[in-house]
Amino acid sequence: MNNTKYIFVVGGVMSSVGKGIASASIGKILQSRGFSVSLIKCDMYVNIDAGTMRPTEHGEVFVGDDGIEADQDLGTYERFIDQTSTSENYITTGQVYQEVIRKERNLEYGGEDVEVVPDIPNEIIRRIGLVQKKDKSDFIIVEIGGTVGEYQNVLFLEAARMMKLKAPEDVLNILVSYLPIPPKVGEMKSKPTQYAARTLNSAGIQADFIICRSEQALDKKRRDKIAIFCNVASDAAISAPDVDSVYDVPVNFLKEKLDDKILKAFELKPKRKNMREWKALASKIKRLKKQVKIAVVGKYFGTGDFELADSYISVIEATKHASWSHNTKPKFAWVDSERYEKDPKLVSELKDYDGVIVPGGFGTRGIEGIITAIKYVRTNNIPYLGLCYGMQLATIEIARHVAKIRTATTTEMDSEAKHQVIHIMPDQEKKLLKKDYGASMRLGSWPCKLKKGSKVRKSYGQNRVDERHRHRYEFNNEYRERLEEAGLSIVGTSPDNHIVEIVELEDHPWFVGVQFHPEFKSRPLKPHPLFREFIKASLKKK
Ligand code: GLN
Repeated sequence: MNNTKYIFVVGGVMSSVGKGIASASIGKILQSRGFSVSLIKCDMYVNIDAGTMRPTEHGEVFVGDDGIEADQDLGTYERFIDQTSTSENYITTGQVYQEVIRKERNLEYGGEDVEVVPDIPNEIIRRIGLVQKKDKSDFIIVEIGGTVGEYQNVLFLEAARMMKLKAPEDVLNILVSYLPIPPKVGEMKSKPTQYAARTLNSAGIQADFIICRSEQALDKKRRDKIAIFCNVASDAAISAPDVDSVYDVPVNFLKEKLDDKILKAFELKPKRKNMREWKALASKIKRLKKQVKIAVVGKYFGTGDFELADSYISVIEATKHASWSHNTKPKFAWVDSERYEKDPKLVSELKDYDGVIVPGGFGTRGIEGIITAIKYVRTNNIPYLGLCYGMQLATIEIARHVAKIRTATTTEMDSEAKHQVIHIMPDQEKKLLKKDYGASMRLGSWPCKLKKGSKVRKSYGQNRVDERHRHRYEFNNEYRERLEEAGLSIVGTSPDNHIVEIVELEDHPWFVGVQFHPEFKSRPLKPHPLFREFIKASLKKK
């Protein structure tokens, strides 16, 4: 292919219509036709990255190998196209302005006026170019966060407009819109989408395709309406009804021939078509009957009066991938740990679950409730997987109740405590004193050496692994011996043996805590070994 082709994906009508999944699915179907793809997420926030955002509001912070703390869409991209994203794949308003201002201070604009237009869109275009240089992919798919018509993403739309103007043959714009079916009306309405397409026009952009998200599939009448009113070809409205599993979306796009249509628009010839394994998985998911009941004990569920599990999306997906590989599907319960603080007896409800996960977290709220839950699963032989904070709190639980260090805790809970079995990492202490919070945790991929004979080593089938981290605190080595004597096996450490990365219990069906986040590396067709074995143990308990 001569030139890289660019596809901008923008949203219409409302947020949460699945732009990220649509973008990832477009990537997937183009990949299946033999092309290489890269995906970029543009976030309109002034935040430099997602690391400082509250998970209940913005959803999970996804961590890449290089330590990028990104929007959860980057996780969706990785799961769909099975490719590692780096910091270049995530662009925020904050990064863009920061760089433009840096250049201005360094006189790199040579005395020119530095203006919002075109200097800000030019910086966005330069950043998109960095991904092109890095990956040299055939396609770069750029998802623009937010919805057309908001103030905050206009400069990203401006970048898309400028790129199309410069090389019309290399750029396509796709609008992902929503067509409501108001229950009292009972008919799919296309008007909001017409407005969205016009709002996009007023930003100087004509959509080439419109992905029509709705509860139901698009009918002929709506397709024709959208063509006429949104000024697109009659086959440019793509039906995208709700699905049970997001992994169905690429399969549906193939049915709509979106791959052929995009290739035709770019005058490209497909090289092959191969989605066999993916399609087989998507149809298997639909047939699964057997369930495995997994309780996720955490604290980031609430948003107003609604409960959202978005903060744990990678944990959810990793659990699904693993369950599917055992021909079963997970049934999740979201357990707010604060309940166990108010009424510790409630914890016995966990006996009804086949396995319990404690995902990552920060701060002090709900923590004692989590420790109560861990004690229950440990003493009742319920399979347990502790992720990051979940590993630290398992260590504290065992210190308190097995090693009898009654006041054991983490510095994060009590910085004055006598027995800080989890304590701050030395370099982190300095950063916190300086109030250096952004992108300053122990982040990204770190190697871990696994102990011979351990359950985790058997699971991985390897003696060394690389996993992604995001934390400030760690296992306090002063307590290593005492806790090992109490029966806590230290089965994964940094190669120099200094940092404790994995703990497990031998006399338990499956009790594993990891300082890292294995969930980020699970893929639908390649479940993560630790999730796979955790689900296996959960099925045995059943
Ligand atoms: N709060 C803990 C730490 O900073 C755990 C972090 C996490 O779970 N991601 O070390």
